Amino acid sequence: MERIIVVGGGLGGVRAVESLRGRGYEGALTLVSAERHPPYDRPPLSKAVLAGESDDTTVDADWDALRCDLLLGERATGLRLDARGGVVASTAGDLPFDGLVIATGAVPITLPGDGPQHVLRTIEDSRDLRSRLTEGARIVIVGAGWIGAEVATTAAKKGCAVTVVEAADTPLAGAIGPAVGALTAPWYAEAGVELRTGVKVAEVGGGGLLLAGGGRIEADVVVVGIGVRPDLSWLDGSGLLLERGVVTDGSFRTYLGEEAPGSARPDVVAVGDCAAWWSARYGRRLLVEHWDTALNAPDVAAATLLGQDEVYDAVPYFWSEQFGRMVQYAGNHSVSERMVDRGDPSGRKWTAAWLTGDRLDAVLTVDRPRDLVQARRVIAAGTPVDAAALADPDVPVRQAVRG
Ligand SMILES: Cc1cc2nc3c(=O)[nH]c(=O)nc-3n(C[C@H](O)[C@H](O)[C@H](O)COP(=O)(O)OP(=O)(O)OC[C@H]3O[C@@H](n4cnc5c(N)ncnc54)[C@H](O)[C@@H]3O)c2cc1C
Repeated sequence: MERIIVVGGGLGGVRAVESLRGRGYEGALTLVSAERHPPYDRPPLSKAVLAGESDDTTVDADWDALRCDLLLGERATGLRLDARGGVVASTAGDLPFDGLVIATGAVPITLPGDGPQHVLRTIEDSRDLRSRLTEGARIVIVGAGWIGAEVATTAAKKGCAVTVVEAADTPLAGAIGPAVGALTAPWYAEAGVELRTGVKVAEVGGGGLLLAGGGRIEADVVVVGIGVRPDLSWLDGSGLLLERGVVTDGSFRTYLGEEAPGSARPDVVAVGDCAAWWSARYGRRLLVEHWDTALNAPDVAAATLLGQDEVYDAVPYFWSEQFGRMVQYAGNHSVSERMVDRGDPSGRKWTAAWLTGDRLDAVLTVDRPRDLVQARRVIAAGTPVDAAALADPDVPVRQAVRG
């Protein structure tokens, strides 16, 4: 390969650049990113940056040493694939390549209506919202997901009057299921945040929300945190197989047209929030919109571009800091058979574990970081566990493994 283009300047993009050089790629390298900033980390945007404790989350990268041309504030607008390689059409002109990394991440989903709604994806979003979190301001957040809970935490700390509106019956129902999600509901009241579940929003109007069943919720600021969708519009007409994300195999090769070994494109890889990759571990396609995947998956994608045989088989990992708690999740429980409580979930520190047979699929830990670290290893190793030992919070997770 002599010319590799990386499209997308988030964590996935910068990590792809670093890995390509780290693995000895000597050819031309260009990173195209729609944002004007060099790549930066997003997790602090709903935490330290929103709280005013930090203002710069730029990823530490030596661009000169990486010998990478940065095309910042430029957007890929189309992709034409040839038998090998192709051309990215962009606002900076046509960019021919023989290797391509697609790392365009995701964009927030918004609600209907012409009232002002704030989302949280970029550093500008975070700074703008921060300036509005003034004492007494009525902040209405739509969505009791990860972002909603983190924004509510900071807004409440700043003395705002915070209401969180959630269509499901519990917070985090989509992410961790209603049973475990319900355990986080009391955290809202404890922080002085009003949580209204089972409330569907019809649209955002001037001055607040219009509800689906009639009625309004008045707001000075509406924040919408109802999820993201991969940013793929520039790939329309490219022939790449797209579902909710760019469909890839376990080495992040994309497919032309259909998912079959003969249509895999080893010269076009996709990573991070925009990629739906095949996980052999879980026997299903995963679209993981989390920092750890954007950090680690690009190294495998870089290997693939350089013709090295590697497969990504990591246990997905995620954390959230909400209402004074560190919440961490590892694994995937989408088809687990049962859940086991580890510790009293009405208490301050607890863990929920999901199992299939005697295999540990996933854990969610609340202020129990040791459980997380040990469980992540057990999940990765796939060793059987004793469910009764796992349910005892005084037995270290690693000792619940069956000898
Ligand atoms: C507020 C917030 C808090 C988060 N907190 C956590 C957390 O606590 N824990 C956790 O695990 N994860 C968290 N995440 C998720 C994590 O930040 C993402 O998983 C990660 O940023 C994904 O990186 P990425 O490089 O795939 O995509 P992105 O970070 O979305 O980067 C994609 C880049 O591509 C650019 N782009 C898009 N389209 C084009 C185009 N056509 N041409 C050129 N450039 C384009 C975008 O502008 C963007 O700069 C959080 C995310 C947000 C927004």
